[in-house]
Amino acid sequence: MKNLRPSILILLGSLLYLMLSITSALLFHLFVLELSPWVIILIPVISALVVFILFYALLKNFIQNRLHLIYKSIQTKQQVVPFKGSTIDNLISTVEIDVRNWKENKNKEITKLKDQEQFRREFLGNLAHELKTPVFAVQGYILTLIEGGIDDKQVNVQFLERASRATERIVNILEDLDQIAKLEVDALKIEMRSFEMIDLIKEIVETLELKAKEKNISLKFQNDLSSIYVTADRNKISQVLTNLINNAISYGKIDGEVVISAVPIDDLVTIEVKDNGIGIDTEHFPRLFERFYRVEKSRNRNEGGTGLGLAIVKHIIESHQQSINVRSSIGIGSTFSFSLKKSNVSGPVSSRGIPLK
Ligand code: ADP
Repeated sequence: MKNLRPSILILLGSLLYLMLSITSALLFHLFVLELSPWVIILIPVISALVVFILFYALLKNFIQNRLHLIYKSIQTKQQVVPFKGSTIDNLISTVEIDVRNWKENKNKEITKLKDQEQFRREFLGNLAHELKTPVFAVQGYILTLIEGGIDDKQVNVQFLERASRATERIVNILEDLDQIAKLEVDALKIEMRSFEMIDLIKEIVETLELKAKEKNISLKFQNDLSSIYVTADRNKISQVLTNLINNAISYGKIDGEVVISAVPIDDLVTIEVKDNGIGIDTEHFPRLFERFYRVEKSRNRNEGGTGLGLAIVKHIIESHQQSINVRSSIGIGSTFSFSLKKSNVSGPVSSRGIPLK
């Protein structure tokens, strides 16, 4: 009974009504007044039909009104009951499907909110942790200076220099955070223009050569073409390359090498930054691009790093509708790569990306 469709239930009710009215008509015919066989059959049949139609219409109207209210209160996009003209059975199965979908969506939303909450908690914890070290260092140096260190010629300048380095670190973290916040807000404000990629790579390699020299790392740009034009945001891609090459040097080995290459494939140009440094275990890949994620918490740590470099890289590459990839083996090295769309211009362009010829 519980699983019967509403229309079958109304039909059964009407049949019951039919039987009862035929029985009453027969009793009336036997004991009160003689009736013709037509009247005994026809009147109960017609009235049962009327009962069926009436109940069906009333029930449908009742269900539709109630569902309308329910749909409104759960605020699905469908504010009105679907299939207004359809049967009660269709109406109920449609609602069942909608409710199931609604429940699934709500479950997904709840999981997403829980993840965001967890992320927010971790982010705040990490941020506090990252800022604590340099802030406490600055505080320590200043207190020591106040408590007499200022007059000690052996340490005063050294402490001020250390405090200045710690402040620089705070500034770096804040600048990177600011950049991530801007990227999130201005995700769509990527300024896509045509520019020459080889020049940009050479420019960045030049600025990082000094840093590479400190570890005697040879910084090479491998490229067979004299020019490749891409359509992207030049400043942001410059930041991506700087972060990747910086990391390749920081986590590269002394006397090692860092090789940058740009290879055109179909309508894309794939840029790779490869080092032969400490490498990364594949187990870290899923979290590598998260803010403040560090593979090794203490050993081999890049002290100047903010832990935000790869998060910024991922953000920028994804806002170019591309993805950042990593291949790596412990002790052998890492390769980070991404692709950019080739531009349809092939000659010099203005700073606004407009062809000059
Ligand atoms: P950090 O400021 O710590 O360098 P990043 O976001 O740039 O932060 O990098 C996140 C982590 O990924 C680093 O702490 C390091 O453990 C790992 N990593 C990044 N690039 C490399 C690389 N080329 N070789 C080995 N490990 C790397």
